Amino acid sequence: TEHNNHKNNQLAAEWVEQFRPFAKEGQCASYIPVLAEKDSNQLAISIIGTNNDEMKAGETTELFTLQSVSKVVTFILACMERGLPYVLERVDVEPTGDTFNSIIRLESHQPGKPFNPMINAGAITVSSMLDGNSPQEKVSKILCFLEQMIGKKLKVNEEVYQSEWQTANRNRSLAYYLMDSGFLDCPVEEALEVYLKQCAIEVNVSDLAMIGLVIANDGYHPLTKTQLFPKQVAKLAKALMVTCGMYNASGKFAAFIGLPAKSGVSGAILAAVPSHAGLDSPFPAGCGIGIYGPAIDDIGNSVAGVNLLKHIATEWNMNIF
Ligand code: GLN
Repeated sequence: TEHNNHKNNQLAAEWVEQFRPFAKEGQCASYIPVLAEKDSNQLAISIIGTNNDEMKAGETTELFTLQSVSKVVTFILACMERGLPYVLERVDVEPTGDTFNSIIRLESHQPGKPFNPMINAGAITVSSMLDGNSPQEKVSKILCFLEQMIGKKLKVNEEVYQSEWQTANRNRSLAYYLMDSGFLDCPVEEALEVYLKQCAIEVNVSDLAMIGLVIANDGYHPLTKTQLFPKQVAKLAKALMVTCGMYNASGKFAAFIGLPAKSGVSGAILAAVPSHAGLDSPFPAGCGIGIYGPAIDDIGNSVAGVNLLKHIATEWNMNIF
C-alpha cells in the first residue's frame, strides 16, 4: 500500500544516511580516469519485489556504469547462445582469491583457462564467445538482453568506454595471453571492445535492482511474466556470484552477509534475494537489490554499499544459508 511504501522509503533513507559516512574509508576508482571524478560521497539503494513494489533512497537518479556487474549478464547470455558445455570448456567455475584483474594464475591452471567468469580473464573470454559478426552486434545483443529485464532503452557511456579503452593495458595483456592459449573466439581488440563497452553500460540503482530481481527469480521476469533465461543458468550464475561475485572478498561476503551479489569498480552492487530469504522482509517473495556508492575499497567493493547491504541483510534475515 501507499502507506507502507512511504514508511519503507523513510526507513531506506535513514539507513542510507547512517551508512553514507563509510564512503570516507574508500575512494573512487582512479585507474579508469573518468571514474575518479565521481562524487565519492554518494550512496543510493533500490529494492524491487515481485509486484514491482520498490523501496528506494539516496541519489537514485544518478547514472553509473555496470563495470564488473556486466560479467554476470554476459555469462548468462553466453550460456544461452552457446550452451553450457561450450562455455564451461573455456572458463572454469572456481574462485581464485586473487584480485579481479590478476594475470598470475593463467599459466598455472590448464594453461590459459581462466578460473571463473567473474574475474577479468574469464569475462573477456566470455565476451569473445558472444554471438554476432562485429563487436557492435555483440554489444547490441547485450543491450537488448538487459533491456528485456529492465524495460527501458540503455546505452554505453562513450566517455567511460574511451577512458578505459585508452588505459586498458592490463586487460590487453590478459586478452593477448588468452589468445595465445587459444581461449578467445575472436580477435583480441574485438573481445576487448565488447568487454569494455559492456562495462560502460549506464544504469541507475532501480535498473540494477530489476536485474537482481530476475536473477533471484531464476530467470523468470515477474512483471512481464516471461522466462528470460533457463533456471539452470540462473542457478549457476547465483553460485558464481556467491563464490566469486565480490572478488577476493567473496568468502567474507558469503560468511557475513550471505547473499548472491556482484560488485563493480564504479561502486555498483547487485544482489539477488531468493524467495526463501525474503520471508522476514517487506519482500517475502524475494527481491532484487541495487546499490551505488562510488567510494570503493582496495579490493574494489563499495565501502558504504557493502555496509548498507550487510545491515539490511541482517535486519531482515536475508542470509540464504
Ligand atoms: N572495466 C573494469 C576492468 O576491466 C571492470 C572491473 C571491475 O569492475 N572490477 O578493469
